[in-house]
Amino acid sequence: MSETADERLLVDVDGTLCRNMPRLCEYLELEYGLDVTPAEITDWSYQFESVGLGISEVITELFERRPEWFLADLDPVSGSEAALETLSDAGYEIWIVTHRPSDTHDLTREWLAEQGMTYDHYVSDVPESKAEVSGDVLIDDYHGNVTDAVRAGMTGLAFDRPYTERIDHDRAYRVQTWEDVLDLLVFDTEVPGEAG
Ligand SMILES: [Mg+2]
Repeated sequence: MSETADERLLVDVDGTLCRNMPRLCEYLELEYGLDVTPAEITDWSYQFESVGLGISEVITELFERRPEWFLADLDPVSGSEAALETLSDAGYEIWIVTHRPSDTHDLTREWLAEQGMTYDHYVSDVPESKAEVSGDVLIDDYHGNVTDAVRAGMTGLAFDRPYTERIDHDRAYRVQTWEDVLDLLVFDTEVPGEAG
């Protein structure tokens, strides 16, 4: 265990710190009468055939029409708040990097504060590739972001969600829980399952 990790962690929000999929499914039911559960959304570009919409279009619609309903009051991912505190205590600098639209950043910062999430900096203008933000480790649930990061020389931790594809790279790790993140980054223990 390192008391002075002295590394910068880039931490995603949706699917990493908060559980946004249950709210998305709620919206699909209210607005389109679709009966979908988060477990069924097994592809990052999932298509809801009966209404002719892809998931990214639904998310864009929610950001535009009902941002507060979509983003306020979301449940945190289990263990995330305690893990950020432990990582900070271990010497990691924590930067929040989300691709949510910039006009929703105040809502996101409010949510982070309400949840007691520990972080040092909120990146307001995240480039399309998160790998362009200067950091040592990216923690994210989207395989595309993690792939960009490991190719740029960072360590990448990909949260295992139904839509997260495997990444074949020796700096990429798949994590199930925030306890797995701590095992890797603070306690230096092996995470069960694959590394890379
Ligand atoms: Mg995400």
